[in-house]
Amino acid sequence: MAAFIKWGLFPLVVVIVCAGPTWSAPSIIQISPEKETVLPTDGIPARRRGDDLYCSSWRFTVETNDAGCWTRIPEKCVDFVKEYITGDLYQSELEAVADNAVAHAKTVGVSGDGRDAWVFDIDETLLSNVPYYAAHGFGSETFDERSFDEWVDLAEAPAISPSLRLYKELQELGFTIFLLTGRGEYQRHATERNLMYAGFSNWENLILRGSTDKGKAASVFKSEKRKEIEDAGFMIHGNYGDQWSDLIGFSTARRSFKLPNPLYYIA
Ligand SMILES: [Mg+2]
Repeated sequence: MAAFIKWGLFPLVVVIVCAGPTWSAPSIIQISPEKETVLPTDGIPARRRGDDLYCSSWRFTVETNDAGCWTRIPEKCVDFVKEYITGDLYQSELEAVADNAVAHAKTVGVSGDGRDAWVFDIDETLLSNVPYYAAHGFGSETFDERSFDEWVDLAEAPAISPSLRLYKELQELGFTIFLLTGRGEYQRHATERNLMYAGFSNWENLILRGSTDKGKAASVFKSEKRKEIEDAGFMIHGNYGDQWSDLIGFSTARRSFKLPNPLYYIA
């Protein structure tokens, strides 16, 4: 298993040295061999149950950002991630987050002047790249910029259905939609094509990384762009993304919503 980290899906793959422990380092949860043998099996090998417990805990720390900057899926969790990301739990969690976002949106007294805004990330937020990652080890392979760009150019990433439901509901409520992505300007056409193919339309602005954004951490780039939205007179009521770097920094939204993603980490 090779470590990988992407920097906002920008064309340059950047090696970032994480501060502190990573998940390639000794884990924070240790399942002793003795404990594994006393777990009830229910027909499932005890070692597998121990791995599932470990991997479920690993996923918890990833989603809460307790893990911080992590660079690889633990080798013994690749099958766990595959089953999760292709199974019912991932879909259920996406639905639950969308439900919370809709509930929040309905508490906003939309003014009707078009200044009530909502920000969406794109990858693993509106569009799913799971078909790509299914063909590339579910995030366990070294990130290959060229092959990922080829996938982006196909413009065939499916919608994340609960996000599409939220997107349409927000539009009906009168929100102005901004799309803020780490994809590069050179991917604008393919991204627009894919979004429309997946059912998204009528966004206010699609913001991608330009030449002056090179080398910026995703959290900095996205904060700067949110500030520009605010400076233009919009109130950002909600922000929706699968990475903490979509949500933290400055000019944060009134409410931020984190979608699950155990496939990769973007600083
Ligand atoms: Mg994303």
